[in-house]
Amino acid sequence: MAGVYIHIPFCKSFCSYCDFYSITDNSLKETLVQSVISEASARSSYLEGEEAETVYFGGGTPSLLEPESVARIIEALRKNFVFAADPEITIEVNPDDVYEGFFRDMHQAGVNRVSIGVQSWNDKRLRYLGRRHDAAQSAKALDAVFREGFENVSADLIYGLPGMTTADLKNDLKKTFSYPVKHLSAYHLTVEEGTKLGRLRKEGKLKETDEETSAAMFSLLGTFCREHGFIHYEISNFALQGYISRHNSSYWKQVPYIGLGPSAHSFDRRSRQWNVSDVRKYIKAISAGEIPYEREELDRITIFNEYVMTSLRTMWGIDLQHVEEFYDKELHDYLVNLSGKYIGYGLMKREKNTLVLTDQGRMISDNIIAELLADL
Ligand code: SF4
Repeated sequence: MAGVYIHIPFCKSFCSYCDFYSITDNSLKETLVQSVISEASARSSYLEGEEAETVYFGGGTPSLLEPESVARIIEALRKNFVFAADPEITIEVNPDDVYEGFFRDMHQAGVNRVSIGVQSWNDKRLRYLGRRHDAAQSAKALDAVFREGFENVSADLIYGLPGMTTADLKNDLKKTFSYPVKHLSAYHLTVEEGTKLGRLRKEGKLKETDEETSAAMFSLLGTFCREHGFIHYEISNFALQGYISRHNSSYWKQVPYIGLGPSAHSFDRRSRQWNVSDVRKYIKAISAGEIPYEREELDRITIFNEYVMTSLRTMWGIDLQHVEEFYDKELHDYLVNLSGKYIGYGLMKREKNTLVLTDQGRMISDNIIAELLADL
């Protein structure tokens, strides 16, 4: 089992909270597509022995690509990697990129899952986030996606904006679930340095949401989604039965993946590597027959810590048998001992051979995970 990630590093403008790598000069789009296709061919052996189960077009803004370009990339992937019988092929879509027939064309290109960046149903908050669309465009995009052939649809929301209340979040959730979406990713706003919001914070012009309100929002999110039949399968992700994102789950389960395009990361269970975060350098290197990447060999403890970090965020939790078999008895015992305290506080629970966070534990997951990381 393996995944393929394609990074499309173009945006029409920068959102105020975002620190992903992208550029606003879209003139290199076609050259980039060609470079990604060349990279797929040059690295066709990276997933040797593994079947690709998922493809994810992320960014940046992959919905800026022509459906025909998406089709060419998928065709190249199929040529260079061995695919499972029913791969999940997702594209992230910004509502303002959607035109009549957009989803029909993406469907024909081979995409079978769509993730729409709604973020908020409130125009004022959308402007605060620097989004290019308004709520009416999100509504139009959601109407179109179901009309034009997709049923595996996810929506993204951002909560915890300054001044936002739990009632505001409830309105966003109600409006989102008035569409037959099967999956929801809801992220608390994090203010990153180097972004517009980061600068506002430095200037004292941004007051972040207090912990109590954030906790109340997180609790509302979980309750609301459960009441609507959604499984809370990862801290920020919810899905109806049968619609858990296979691609994201593979990251959390340490399945190998290849990342194509500028700044894309790859992981093969022993090492992690990442392409240069510069579109022009990337294109130049690929056209010269080189892959512009840096690589880090991962030692046993680093891989173990990554496993703890990612698995504890999910409903599957830490598989103690896997830890004993794949790592060793020492790390198994280390986890069993350390988790005792959290089990006592009601923040974790042990179910047969797994350790999972309780709802209460999920609210302070970062703190618990930080304490469980090994430094042996
Ligand atoms: S949030 Fe998405 S659309 Fe906005 S700048 Fe970041 S990558 Fe681009």
